[in-house]
Amino acid sequence: MIEEKKMNIQMVDLKSQYANIKPQIDKVISEVLDSAQFINGEHVKLFQTELAEYLNVKHVITCANGTDALQIAMMGLGLKPGDEVITPSYTYIATTEVIGLLGLKPVFVDCDTNTFNISVEQIKKAITKNTKAIVPVHLFGQSCDMKSILKLAKEYNLFIIEDNAQAIGCDYNGFGDLRKTGTIGNVGCTSFFPSKNLGCFGDGGALMTNDDDLAIKLRMIANHGQSKKYYHDIVGCNSRLDNIQAAVLRIKLKELNSYILNRQKAANYYDKFLGKSEFFSIPFRSTDSNHVFHQYTLKLSDEINREELIKYLSQKNIPAMIYYPVPAHKQKMFSKIPKSLNDMKNTNWLSERVISLPMHTELSTDQQDFTVQNIFNFVNK
Ligand SMILES: *Cc1c(COP(=O)(O)O)cnc(C)c1O
Repeated sequence: MIEEKKMNIQMVDLKSQYANIKPQIDKVISEVLDSAQFINGEHVKLFQTELAEYLNVKHVITCANGTDALQIAMMGLGLKPGDEVITPSYTYIATTEVIGLLGLKPVFVDCDTNTFNISVEQIKKAITKNTKAIVPVHLFGQSCDMKSILKLAKEYNLFIIEDNAQAIGCDYNGFGDLRKTGTIGNVGCTSFFPSKNLGCFGDGGALMTNDDDLAIKLRMIANHGQSKKYYHDIVGCNSRLDNIQAAVLRIKLKELNSYILNRQKAANYYDKFLGKSEFFSIPFRSTDSNHVFHQYTLKLSDEINREELIKYLSQKNIPAMIYYPVPAHKQKMFSKIPKSLNDMKNTNWLSERVISLPMHTELSTDQQDFTVQNIFNFVNK
């Protein structure tokens, strides 16, 4: 039995992560302050090159956040109001919100209960003559079935916009070689929000593509549609990563592989205990993708009252979260979207049965023991 002491467990422990790289971070931030190069500085250029190298992709275009990245991607591909975009409903709202923002029509499809990712079967059923794009979201850190999705896209002449905000660094091997998620479709989007697997100290985002022409267009759109200074060829927006964030990200990118290993270790440790219980389904491990564990998400059996469990844990200062309690197709912002043929059975079920446990790069086995022990205290009550 572990002593019931104050463990100070966080869902994401950004303070401890910072403490481990503080000297490098503080030095580079103060250098940027001295240089007064806040926008379009050297670190932004270098970070784009270094991230492209890490991901093995031709172009990385940084922008202000992950939501902007999705918007810029859809604008860059020339999607027009009324075009149908196939998206999972079980995702963070940003994925679907930009579809609505641009006047496109979100077509929500159900997910797979094992991977939590968009169901290829359901994509197939949702394709119409108006479908222009599919947005696979690599949810919680594991790749979608990109081989099947790419095949469908080819067959029906659709664009693929990968939402990679939760899976940066994830390896997909469904084509027989290793490819990083976010580099497989026409364009990939990611977020550097502080709690993401590669996070900065504010907002940030990026687009990835191997398409030279598209890269030029995306870069223009992110910069007021500008081809050269004060010459604006197309309507764009103002979306940029600042130099301080890029400097932070360059340091953290060097740590990303070890961050991923720490997350995987923590996930395996949870699995060891929770995997034995009939009350929980531990995260499914796909054979064609590794898992970078942005979230460690359990499915609870029907016997467990989720709200009571969360309340019990919070009394012990153990945080736990529900990602996501209200799927996109049930959000008020989409109440005018006609109901799809899809019954969203899996999405609705998951939104009621999942729970995410603390998961981050500095999680200790003591903290995990304490969490697991209290989960079992609750179920054996
Ligand atoms: C975080 C996130 C986004 C949006 O990123 P922001 O940087 O917060 O705009 C988009 N999609 C998914 C799946 C995310 O998790």
